[in-house]
Amino acid sequence: MNGGISYWYADDGLPAVREPLASDASADVVIVGGGYTGLWTAYYLKKAAPFLRITVLERKFCGFGASGRNGGWLYNGIAGRDRYAKLHGHEAAVRLQRAMNGTVGEVARVVAEEGVDCDLHQGGVLEVARTPAQLARLRAFHEHELSYGEKDRELYGARETAERIRIADAVGSAWTPHGARLHPVKLVKGLAAAVEALGVTIHESTPVTEIRPRHAVTPYGTVRAPYVLRCTEGFTADLKGQRRTWLPMNSSMIATEPLTDAQWAAIGWDGLETLGDMAHVYMYAQRTADGRIALGGRGVPYRFGSRTDSDGRTQGATVEALRRILTDFFPALAGVRVEYAWSGVLGVPRDWCATVTLDRSTGLGWAGGYVGSGVATTNLAGRTLCDLVQQDSGQGGPTELTGLPWVGHKVRRWEPEPLRWLGVQGMYATYRAADRREGAGFDVRSSRLARVADRVAGRH
Ligand SMILES: Cc1cc2nc3c(=O)[nH]c(=O)nc-3n(C[C@H](O)[C@H](O)[C@H](O)COP(=O)(O)OP(=O)(O)OC[C@H]3O[C@@H](n4cnc5c(N)ncnc54)[C@H](O)[C@@H]3O)c2cc1C
Repeated sequence: MNGGISYWYADDGLPAVREPLASDASADVVIVGGGYTGLWTAYYLKKAAPFLRITVLERKFCGFGASGRNGGWLYNGIAGRDRYAKLHGHEAAVRLQRAMNGTVGEVARVVAEEGVDCDLHQGGVLEVARTPAQLARLRAFHEHELSYGEKDRELYGARETAERIRIADAVGSAWTPHGARLHPVKLVKGLAAAVEALGVTIHESTPVTEIRPRHAVTPYGTVRAPYVLRCTEGFTADLKGQRRTWLPMNSSMIATEPLTDAQWAAIGWDGLETLGDMAHVYMYAQRTADGRIALGGRGVPYRFGSRTDSDGRTQGATVEALRRILTDFFPALAGVRVEYAWSGVLGVPRDWCATVTLDRSTGLGWAGGYVGSGVATTNLAGRTLCDLVQQDSGQGGPTELTGLPWVGHKVRRWEPEPLRWLGVQGMYATYRAADRREGAGFDVRSSRLARVADRVAGRH
């Protein structure tokens, strides 16, 4: 099956769509977008202040976007931490990292408390190196993470890596306990149900066409509220005035048929770690609760004019490329059937830094730009937006979260087309070339090509 939103929906079923907005309405807080960001924000706000009238407006259904399509890595990575260290000092970035480490446990705590069964298993994150250049990068990465206070991570050689997962050509890996595998759709459906049970109003099939101070405008009416929070990530470019705010970047995935016991015995992977690699065009994978491998990477990274797809249909060449990664990692799976393929969009800011903001003069807020690390970060964003609204409305003061360095960060917009399209195409062509050079043994240190692409893209 190609498209159909994602394998996760094929597995768990598409939801019944909630009633759209019927007419003009008012609320205390209106949230645009029913993905993890919007739903976590609604959850924490309603918990903190049950009297608040909160409305979520979702143009399709909750979990239609990346939150219903991702790789299910709940882990402690956050886009932009190193830049925040440069801008605000190392100690501030350590606080951000600590908050992210705690976020993995916070999600696990809430899903347990709310009875959301989302196949969450806290087996940590294993990132593997398969070339000398990747190994050098892995070691540097490991040291770098230690410098942010992550004392409990480990570095493995080839043998110890194989004891966990048997991957062809693996020369080493790094493991952190701050990660869990989960079923993305079970999480987003469970969250939407929990939020609704708390008394939040959710309208689906309700596209917001314009956000103005105190107004969220839809074809069916306008919702007025002192706070309007934009939680639209990869779809932000569709909103009036937001075309160049965050670039929608595609990520694509495949899922295999369920593997046999003999195939699992050949691979190992008993710890259910989420699995990634150190290539420039990296892969990410999980062992699903029903015994498949779900594996992702960048397909066609960006469509001209910031267009996004609708149902996740994925180009044949991308499916084939992901399948090659699968069998390259696990040659024993050469004959295995790929049963599902799908894609989704991430939001990428010009400086690749995730942000959360509440403009106190207008009541407009937003969170996002997570690039590929949003499953956990959205939870931190939701808690932070909650604290910012509480603070602004006089219900609370500054908190540890409102003092984190990603709060209120400003970034310039992306270039107009065709520069935007050319830039992203060039960047990914360069990353792919760098991976090929490293794979062929031309570059033992990280390819200079990749460093150039990083600079052009504004990543470092
Ligand atoms: C294929 C893929 C794999 C990924 N894997 C991982 C992973 O393993 N780990 C990880 O940490 N991150 C991963 N990510 C990123 C992560 O999924 C996202 O960062 C996260 O889900 C973002 O949540 P969100 O709520 O901000 O955005 P979304 O989930 O995209 O939600 C935005 C919502 O807003 C709605 N919307 C948009 N515009 C409007 C409008 N105008 N009016 C009303 N509603 C609107 C959309 O329909 C959508 O439901 C992956 C992403 C993709 C695409």
